[in-house]
Amino acid sequence: MFRTIALSVGLLISAGSTNAFAWGCDGHRAIVFVAEQLLSTATINAVKTVLTASPVDAALKRFCDPVPSDIIADVASWADDERDVNPVTGAWHFINVPRSVGAAPSAYGKYCLNGDCIIDAIVAQFKTLKKTSVDPTRKADALRFIIHLVGDVHQPLHAITNGDRGANCLPVTYFSQAPQEDDKGNFAPNLHRVWDADLIRTLMAAQHLADARALAAYIVQHGSTTSVVAQAPTTSRVKSWARASNALARTVAYGRLPVNPPLEPAAAITLTSCDDNNHVGRRMAKLHERLADGYAQASTPVIVRQLRLAGERLAAALEAAFPAP
Ligand SMILES: [Zn+2]
Repeated sequence: MFRTIALSVGLLISAGSTNAFAWGCDGHRAIVFVAEQLLSTATINAVKTVLTASPVDAALKRFCDPVPSDIIADVASWADDERDVNPVTGAWHFINVPRSVGAAPSAYGKYCLNGDCIIDAIVAQFKTLKKTSVDPTRKADALRFIIHLVGDVHQPLHAITNGDRGANCLPVTYFSQAPQEDDKGNFAPNLHRVWDADLIRTLMAAQHLADARALAAYIVQHGSTTSVVAQAPTTSRVKSWARASNALARTVAYGRLPVNPPLEPAAAITLTSCDDNNHVGRRMAKLHERLADGYAQASTPVIVRQLRLAGERLAAALEAAFPAP
């Protein structure tokens, strides 16, 4: 499936996302489109009413192109844009559980410092959304965070770090594209970006999926998505999603790499650049990780399943946020 398109991959990814913090635009939108297929009309209308009551600031620089036909899909990546003007929210997109601690179920409280991690952020934003006495802007922002973060927690590399900023500092050759270091010491492609966007783009090219809506249809076809039951994203529930993501990161995202990276110190969890942790980016570049068909075939089914689960769980959360009267 992937071999035939390997030659065109360089072209595809050269125009692609450099956003290092989330599923790319297509992934987040596909999650929304999967959720929309499960939601009741009443809930979709309630979601749209909250979003419309306080739209995104027109001055905010948006990374993804607009989706004029769907206000919910249009805000799927808003939280990544918001992070640029509201940096305190940056830590809400992930939880840095060190790869070296393994499954360690007790780690999730320890590595959610001051409640600034994706688990506590989803729970807190859901509470804000449910409050009746919240002003329309806070309510709409809370909803936009939930739409985005429920997606992010299903990206395996948002629930782990190996002293490498969740594999942002793990340079890889992706098909024909060799990693380059920029003047800030960042590398592209890197393993995190490959999972955010490049593998999805490779799948879309191979399956002739023109846009995120077509990707969502493919995801639904390749799973057993059924009806949705309202379920609030409680701490224990979101923790279980993060634990599953962490396991997939260990066994597939890192686990299926051609060269097993060394286990980095558990203390190396807050890096400001790939120069930190003893120049981790350059050290990992020396592993010369080369990802092609074999890696894509191991990873893509995981990505499709995670996008589907994210869509289902987003729908369940929204049904719980806007129960039928
Ligand atoms: Zn994000």
